[in-house]
Amino acid sequence: MTVAVIGAGVVGMATARAIQRGGRPVIVLDDVDPGRKTSFGNAGFIAIDHVLPLARPSVLKRVPSMLLDRNGPLTLHTPSLFWLIPWMLRFGRAASSTQEVAKGVDSFGALMAEANIAWKAEIQASGLGELFKSKGALYVYETLAGFEGGAQERSLQAAKGTAMEILDGDQARELAPGLSPHIVKGVYYPHGMHTVSPYHVVTTLAERFVAEGGRIEKTNVEGFDVAGDRVTAVRAGGRSIPVDAVAICAGRASGDLTRYLGFKAPLVAERGYHVMLEPDNVRFDLPVSPAERGFFITPMREGLRVAGTVELGAPNRPESWHRADLLKKHLEAIFPGVGGAETSRWMGERPSLPDFRPAIGRAPRHVNVYCGYGHQHVGLTLATATGRLLARLLDGESLPPALAHCDPGRFG
Ligand SMILES: Cc1cc2nc3c(=O)[nH]c(=O)nc-3n(C[C@H](O)[C@H](O)[C@H](O)COP(=O)(O)OP(=O)(O)OC[C@H]3O[C@@H](n4cnc5c(N)ncnc54)[C@H](O)[C@@H]3O)c2cc1C
Repeated sequence: MTVAVIGAGVVGMATARAIQRGGRPVIVLDDVDPGRKTSFGNAGFIAIDHVLPLARPSVLKRVPSMLLDRNGPLTLHTPSLFWLIPWMLRFGRAASSTQEVAKGVDSFGALMAEANIAWKAEIQASGLGELFKSKGALYVYETLAGFEGGAQERSLQAAKGTAMEILDGDQARELAPGLSPHIVKGVYYPHGMHTVSPYHVVTTLAERFVAEGGRIEKTNVEGFDVAGDRVTAVRAGGRSIPVDAVAICAGRASGDLTRYLGFKAPLVAERGYHVMLEPDNVRFDLPVSPAERGFFITPMREGLRVAGTVELGAPNRPESWHRADLLKKHLEAIFPGVGGAETSRWMGERPSLPDFRPAIGRAPRHVNVYCGYGHQHVGLTLATATGRLLARLLDGESLPPALAHCDPGRFG
């Protein structure tokens, strides 16, 4: 029974590894080398503390003020407005609906519980130990109002058993020397984990996949051959590759594939940036997020990574590099004098569905098509959980009930 996994990002490669472990032949199809798209440049944080969906009233309320602030965490590509409106209306509906927010909380509860176990298991299975550090993570606040704004999330985290320590400014500075004196509060998550090279996590998964008999083919998937309610072949590079099952893990482009199978994946490209700096004066060893500015500062193997910001727009537009410059300004405000010369910069497209819940599960019309996309800000975190869940589905097991809220068919 050959399974084709479409997409060699972190989600696709983790899914391929999980299915391979079940003893099935797996082929991964991607038109670029593993880990070259969005999974290349993330902040590296395994965010198991992420328990509230981004589609929620407090975020919706902040959207106008964030958009008006040129240096704020959110911006919108105005010429894409027409293209974005349907997604934004759906986001607004999801964020203001108590039931939809509850579905997000439910599903993230189940997913994060799985993510915690799944990464630890994959680190062992794929020999990823040197790429991960368990140093915790620190969120810092510049105002007391900002800190209070996180109260709802913290109480939910506490209810779910997430360990955390509330720090004053000095305690935060002790944990991350070099932090600006104006930081007034911090929240430390002692069980947080991060990778020092997100790209090498994917390439190592790919190497292990191939070493254990998996096949990766560099090709663009253009459609499917279908017989009744089954996909019989994947069309790629002008030929049909016979398959017994398919997993769509194509990140932001997944909607182009689901369209062939008669269902919608209204994904937007939520663009984010990173800059890599020489690690001058870096005296901390854990990811630090200035929560009010919405970005991450992560010490990595190749230097200091400053990553984040959200830029909503249609896909395939030129980069807006001033967003990367902005990240450097934010870093200087939070860690004055930390970080040296810039060594590289990057833009990636977070694959985001309007309700900010991923699509994980079986496709609505074809019994042998499985979906794992729409992981937005937490795709690294949820990659191995997604892989394990899809592998279980392939084995005929059912998903935890809360994952009904991540049904890929929910957008029609
Ligand atoms: C700035 C930034 C910081 C982030 N920080 C974090 C973080 O700290 N923690 C976290 O958990 N997440 C983080 N994320 C989010 C995370 O990086 C993404 O959610 C994740 O990488 C998505 O992985 P993916 O495999 O779904 O997509 P991708 O990595 O984009 O992979 C999809 C693959 O599918 C392939 N593909 C698409 N269409 C086709 C086709 N038709 N045929 C063949 N192949 C196809 C593409 O070429 C691509 O290789 C961050 C994102 C950004 C932008």
